[in-house]
Amino acid sequence: MSKTLQAVRGMNDLLPTDAPRWQFLEDTTRAVFEQYGYRLMRTPVVEPTPLFVRSIGEVTDIVEREMYSFEDAMNGEKLTLRPEGTAGLVRAAIEHNILYEGPKRVWTSGPMFRHERPQKGRYRQFHQFDVEALGFAGPDVDAEQMLMLSRLWQKLGFKDVALHVNSIGDAEARKTHRQALVTYFEAHRDALDEDAKRRLYTNPLRTLDTKNPAMQALVAGAPMLKDYLGEAETAHFDGVTQRLDAAGLAYTVNPRLVRGFDYYNRTVFEFIAKGRDWELTIAGGGRYDGLVEQLGGKPAASCGFAFGVERVMMLLDENPPEQVEASDVYVVYADGLEQHAFTVAEKLRDRDLSVALHGTADGKTASFKSQMKKADASGARFAIILGADEVAAGVVSVKNLREGGEQVKLPLDDVALHVCGSALGSNLVA
Ligand code: AMP
Repeated sequence: MSKTLQAVRGMNDLLPTDAPRWQFLEDTTRAVFEQYGYRLMRTPVVEPTPLFVRSIGEVTDIVEREMYSFEDAMNGEKLTLRPEGTAGLVRAAIEHNILYEGPKRVWTSGPMFRHERPQKGRYRQFHQFDVEALGFAGPDVDAEQMLMLSRLWQKLGFKDVALHVNSIGDAEARKTHRQALVTYFEAHRDALDEDAKRRLYTNPLRTLDTKNPAMQALVAGAPMLKDYLGEAETAHFDGVTQRLDAAGLAYTVNPRLVRGFDYYNRTVFEFIAKGRDWELTIAGGGRYDGLVEQLGGKPAASCGFAFGVERVMMLLDENPPEQVEASDVYVVYADGLEQHAFTVAEKLRDRDLSVALHGTADGKTASFKSQMKKADASGARFAIILGADEVAAGVVSVKNLREGGEQVKLPLDDVALHVCGSALGSNLVA
């Protein structure tokens, strides 16, 4: 037999057992984004390569070595699987001129691709929710986005997600600071690792973000960007922190926080979560006031962020929500009643219930006992039981799988009320 094929390394399948939690996360996220007036946009997974080179920056990890790029076999066009969402959203906003009537709050979600070394929480295909406030210059949207994420963590039941914020200033401040950094690193050339040496003149800022333990002391003594910020940049950052303070959202100002893309300016932020044996950035974002213009649009100061679905799922797995989505009812039936059960399941769906019907194999029906086990394991709240007696009497038997109690016989028309009534009852008690 030939060897079975497997998924590409670093790319994962979502299995039905995990799906309810993903859906819970996706539904909760969407609801929170809608609460803040963000609207859905979708862009292609494939974009022209220059879009990412021009926006993310030539001397970044992503563009230097992590992009899945290829040439279109038909016309030789250089294409890339998107490594992040902002560039595509901004491209689409310009292409469709959606900012002509004013600023827009938008979000998108889907797979992103980076050729990284796969490990826990780091994949080659991963999923993000991306949020962008396009055309908003004030510090209010920066704070709004942090509060929105914090509200989401709360809804998901997370307690200890730390918010780090910083201002990386505007281009002028960064240029002066950059020069000071180059001078400082040149003076300590012997202590630089290979990455830092390579980036000394191209992107010394990235070295501040190094994970190399041997470089930490050197980096700690490097010139700080905050000492180079002008009045307007400082006022903007104060505007952000004042709003966070007023809303009672705790944060740490981390003067060393930089992000891996060149398009950011002024505010940058990250949410860092601790799991049982891991600590990861689950969300990151910031302001990118120059990007829209840089990609050919009219100037539109903007702010956005992305969070990684897999990483948030890691946290959710350790803090499972009390109720995960399961079917309302699971239909079990006696041998010979498959067709009847099939019809009953459709009629229950007509009444807006979600229904799992026990499947047959080779025309054989499993014993009641084994079907009931499956019903229980499925997480459905009720079993609908169909036997010869029920068919003769024109009713179905309904058993509450979660709260126990008497099994009752009901006409089909009353099942939905019974199921929903009980859900209402249990909510009221809780
Ligand atoms: P970034 O687009 O690099 O700012 O990342 C935003 C968020 O996406 C991070 O905080 C992670 O949660 C997630 N993320 C980024 N890269 C990966 C990856 N390779 N695998 C899984 N999640 C990722």
